[in-house]
Amino acid sequence: MVGVTPLAGTLDVRGVSKDFQERGRKVRALEGVDLRVEPGEFVCVVGASGSGKSTLLALVAGLQTPTEGTITLDDLPVDGPGPDRGLVPQAGTLYPWRTVERNVAFGLELLKVDAAERARRVDWYLAETGLSDLRTALPRQLSGGQQQRVAIARALVCEPEVLLLDEPFGALDVQTKEDMQVLIRQVWQDTGKTVLMVTHDVEEAVFLGTRVVVLACDPGRVAADVTVDLPADRDLSVKRTPEFLAMRASLEDLVRAQHNAHNARVTAGDR
Ligand code: ADP
Ligand code: MG
Repeated sequence: MVGVTPLAGTLDVRGVSKDFQERGRKVRALEGVDLRVEPGEFVCVVGASGSGKSTLLALVAGLQTPTEGTITLDDLPVDGPGPDRGLVPQAGTLYPWRTVERNVAFGLELLKVDAAERARRVDWYLAETGLSDLRTALPRQLSGGQQQRVAIARALVCEPEVLLLDEPFGALDVQTKEDMQVLIRQVWQDTGKTVLMVTHDVEEAVFLGTRVVVLACDPGRVAADVTVDLPADRDLSVKRTPEFLAMRASLEDLVRAQHNAHNARVTAGDR
């Protein structure tokens, strides 16, 4: 369309299935997943353990290839990892011998970004993630929450179109986790990035997301896709409101039903 510049960061997962071979048997991890994420959306994917959340993220990250279907980012097929998608894994992926600032700079070194621009961007994202005073520390000197801040800054510094997070706060205590939830929402508001995050924590998903997608199990597929109708500038106090609690309860029931059905199939020997 003439005169219309589409916003960057449109992710389109269409008809995606993924099979794995496990001890000679085919395991269908995902089946017929359709998920379109518009620029600037914050989509949280929740589901019971084994519903294919990590597989979905690995496919979008380009670390794995779909068995069926296509994944595009801004209409270009995803066919491997790329700097247009920044991945924040669960924990423990920092380079132990690199300082905080050199961990954050790593992707820019790979991309051969010149030193002045590298320093400018590293400074900005260290400040954004509250790490400026820790720039010369080594990962082992940091708390779990601080280490995940580094992982977030490291993913953002390459200025990806889409930020991908796989249960990034799963290993943190409740208070630190909430600090990180506030941080990631602030980062999202400041940068306007498209965010796709998977979590088993429904409360986290409702607090963070503009949309929550629930995956069903065996095989993983979209069971629900709901818009979060809460104020855009929410803070932690929203978690106590009736609207929040009602949405949380209905989504938790859905995830619980999937988990129970999966357990029943395992007990019956179907899986
Ligand atoms: P989740 O992240 O929701 O817990 P996963 O995406 O890790 O789920 O796994 C979904 C299903 O795919 C599970 O049944 C799991 O055992 C299977 N699976 C995932 N990765 C592999 C793999 N590399 N090889 C074989 N099976 C796998
Ligand atoms: Mg997982």
